[in-house]
Amino acid sequence: MSNYIVSARKYRPETFRSVVGQLSLTHTLKAAIDSQRLAHAYLFCGPRGVGKTTCARIFAKTINCLNPTAEGEACNECESCRAFNEQRSYNIVELDAASNNSVDDIRTLIEQVQIPPQIGRYRVFIIDEVHMLSQAAFNAFLKTLEEPPAHAIFILATTEKQKIIPTILSRCQIYDFARITINDMVQQLQYIASQEGISAEPAALNVIAQKADGAMRDALSIFDQVAASSLGNITYQSAIDNLNVLDHDYYFRLMEAFHTCNVPEALLIYKEIRDHGFDSLFFINGLAQHMRDMLVALTPATKSLLEMSDEVAQRFIVESRKFHPKFYYRALDLCNTCDVNYRTATNKQFVVELTLIKLCQILDATPPAGGGGGGNQPLKTVAAAPQQPQPARAATPQPSATASPRPAAPQPQGQVSPQPVVSTPAQPYVAQQPRPAAAPAPAYKPGTLRTPSSSRIMINAQPPQQAASASDADSSASSAHRRTAAFSEQQLLAAWQRFIDEHPHEKVIVNTMRMSQPARVNDTLYEITVENQGQVEFFNTHRTEIVEFLRNAVKNDMLAINVNIRQGGPAPKIWSPREVVDDMCKQNEAVVTLIRDFELGIA
Ligand SMILES: [Zn+2]
Repeated sequence: MSNYIVSARKYRPETFRSVVGQLSLTHTLKAAIDSQRLAHAYLFCGPRGVGKTTCARIFAKTINCLNPTAEGEACNECESCRAFNEQRSYNIVELDAASNNSVDDIRTLIEQVQIPPQIGRYRVFIIDEVHMLSQAAFNAFLKTLEEPPAHAIFILATTEKQKIIPTILSRCQIYDFARITINDMVQQLQYIASQEGISAEPAALNVIAQKADGAMRDALSIFDQVAASSLGNITYQSAIDNLNVLDHDYYFRLMEAFHTCNVPEALLIYKEIRDHGFDSLFFINGLAQHMRDMLVALTPATKSLLEMSDEVAQRFIVESRKFHPKFYYRALDLCNTCDVNYRTATNKQFVVELTLIKLCQILDATPPAGGGGGGNQPLKTVAAAPQQPQPARAATPQPSATASPRPAAPQPQGQVSPQPVVSTPAQPYVAQQPRPAAAPAPAYKPGTLRTPSSSRIMINAQPPQQAASASDADSSASSAHRRTAAFSEQQLLAAWQRFIDEHPHEKVIVNTMRMSQPARVNDTLYEITVENQGQVEFFNTHRTEIVEFLRNAVKNDMLAINVNIRQGGPAPKIWSPREVVDDMCKQNEAVVTLIRDFELGIA
């Protein structure tokens, strides 16, 4: 174990070619060396661990190499290169400005700048974290930076470019280092694993790379840590256990719960995550990141925004197709709200659970009480569904296992069909076909789609045959099939009542229907009277379902219902329990006595 060298040192790149993830930048540096157009000062900017200092060292070595290769790399064999590789070269001076930021530190450096190189042509002064220099140190340094001796080259490195004063910026050639992509990191880790005789699953290396957040140095330290504890066999499981990373399987399971509107499952998964010791805020942000990744995986154009290895990305691409983009928009908004509210919430667990419940409800077909809900568009998408301009025909099998079975309702030509929300064929996701307005659903099922036209209520009781004939009802092209059976007012009122009975959860519409019974105008025209414009609009929103239901019940497709607003006179008053008691007391003295003697109250 005594000769163990950490990977970050052992695999520190020694040539521009072996630098990971900075291809265009190293190419430019090499070209500058090749054409002998060297500046006196460079500024290397970028996040930590992306290779700024490494590149500065390679640069210093290369410009001093006595026999550079044809590719413009250092030979690693000449005396200068060997001195660099053995860290005994006097041609490289490093100052860490984070800990040496005083004027005196800079003065010491400036004195060294005057000394010419012994071998090679340049002395390179690397000032790391240069933004940490004090104002006085900056000022002392400025003159040397303006007029350095011919042999001196400065490389200033910083993670915070915006803190560098303009007088310095204007004297430097600026190189911006990019964060290292997950894919580049995974490839490098794969290479190191193979060199070290360590077996490593790609998904595990992906977890390590993600944890490192763009910094190669961190990725290598994490790799060492995981490799040590998993005894040379890095599996996905060992990686997430070691790094206390939340397995994205949790998130995929949650997405499935959202897809099937399964609130209990979502809450149980959340409990499981808490039981594993994960912080709830960490979880909700992880979930948001997961859904963001699924969203960008959905469209080929944004696939490049996926920061993960190709193997993992493939799973995201496949899973992402289960949802419409609008689902992700809403879901991400909910996660963001949760994140904002979490910090101030008294009951933090509740905030997260409420968010999960709302996420489960996005695809839920049941309209909220009051019928207002915004969730009236089909948000689920089905991966394999062929795109069709018309609603699904009877013969079209439903491709998704989670989609609710639908009666085989043949669509007559000429029917106005609701437009699918998703339209362009170029998109990889395909909207599940919305149900045509006239074809009622056989039964409510979690995940049943709502038609895009309104917040529709589901009609539960119709057998498929009726549903099929119902869809004929509005067809102007097939008037020959219209049913015209005679029916009585009693039959209609019975059907009206049955609709009420069968939709106990549609409180607002059912209450409206209870308060206003249809009155006969002629054989097929009835009218109802409601109290206000709001009720008219609400009835109109559900008119199609109600009228279809009634038409099927009385077997007459000519039936129509008009809605009027009550004219003149106050509407019948709805009494509160208190008002009822007060009225009783007014009418009968004995009630007052009764209440007093028995000390009665209103529950
Ligand atoms: Zn050399």
